Amino acid sequence: MEDVRVRFAPSPTGFFHIGGARTALFNWLYAKHTGGKFILRIENTDDERDRQEFLDVLIRGLQWLGLDWDEGPGVGGDYGPYLQSQRSDIYDAYTEILKREGHAYEKDGALYFRVSQKPQTIHDLIRGDVVRKEEKDFVIVRANGKPVFHLVNVIDDIAMGITHVIRGEDHLSNASKHVELFNAFGVAPPLFAHIPLILKSHGSGKMSKRDTGALIENYAADHFIPAAVRNYLCLLGWSPKEDREILPIGEIIRLFNIRDVNKNNARFDEKKMAFFNGEYLKALPFAEFFDRSMAVLADSAIALEKFDGAYVSSVLELCQEKLRSLVELPNFVDYFFSESISYDREALAKLQLKCAVRQRLGEFRDAFAAASGVDDASIENLVRDLANANCVNGGEYIHSVRFAVSGRNVGPSFFGLVRVLGRERVLARLGNFLAQCP
Ligand code: GLU
Repeated sequence: MEDVRVRFAPSPTGFFHIGGARTALFNWLYAKHTGGKFILRIENTDDERDRQEFLDVLIRGLQWLGLDWDEGPGVGGDYGPYLQSQRSDIYDAYTEILKREGHAYEKDGALYFRVSQKPQTIHDLIRGDVVRKEEKDFVIVRANGKPVFHLVNVIDDIAMGITHVIRGEDHLSNASKHVELFNAFGVAPPLFAHIPLILKSHGSGKMSKRDTGALIENYAADHFIPAAVRNYLCLLGWSPKEDREILPIGEIIRLFNIRDVNKNNARFDEKKMAFFNGEYLKALPFAEFFDRSMAVLADSAIALEKFDGAYVSSVLELCQEKLRSLVELPNFVDYFFSESISYDREALAKLQLKCAVRQRLGEFRDAFAAASGVDDASIENLVRDLANANCVNGGEYIHSVRFAVSGRNVGPSFFGLVRVLGRERVLARLGNFLAQCP
């Protein structure tokens, strides 16, 4: 078989939509799977859209997802330039062929393509053969001299030697025009793969740029783990089977085949994306989790410089397994770095319905002050002994102390929390709490 050449051909719009990212990803996966080439071609024929910052958003998004291209902007290649705005000579030359061979004619200043009136077969690897007939001649060069999308798209696929066109299902309706053009140029059309749409989480309809989770740049800004987002995107229309979902990209490349992509639309699931991110966070080597966390905390109000490195590390180590997303981190750890803890009266009132907070705190404080060890196991034993001695559930101590030292009713593992805060801070906070709360 000839070497696979696939392309991602976005029209820069100023944002990088999850649908486009998934199209890029499937092309990239297919190229990697087959040992072929992945080409980035920028379809920026509209002057208005030909803006550097629009292009930058796309390039940054692709790089963030780790989707490197073999040919294209910034990389070069034998088939360039890779920006349509720089290829008008090529379009003129190809258009001449159509005119010369009677496939195009002028009318009202525009250039029209003469359709064959014959049914065209689109060989689609996902949908099978689709037969469509173009009834009407269509414009290929506007009266202002600009070639239209259909023409330049096909010319570029020919000139760049594209073997497989993998793109969104919304382009299926264009494919018969494209096949007509390939035929007119005397070139066998590539194989197509029209991939299913991504529906929004709730209700019906395609995900739009306004829907939460729709833009790749927002994941980057929210400190998502790129590999987690990429892994999740792989599953929008494809699945590795055997109930596996979280798997290394090398494994996905090995398993991915464009023929296995679903015909049915995929539904975006924000919660699942967050879950994937949490799993990837957990699996990060601590050094990387630490660096990523520090970058997030540096932008927060937390004054880390006042604390020693070992303490900061132990806080982060404790939180790594509980976090779904790094954006939550400042709010998740702030009480480790501040002695002014505010207590939500309502939360406290609720807690008091379940346990005798003051009494449990007093008992815990006395025992903890006298305890010999502050490792997780000693704290666990201490709580168990107190619970047995006072005939109450250990949870009463855990909930009361957690609330008093952190102002929250959720957080990292309780024993780890007490160990990391250390005896001095814990005792001081218990004292403060008992002094200010009824
Ligand atoms: N520029 C088109 C788009 O962004 C690409 C169409 C294609 O991949 O053939 O939808």
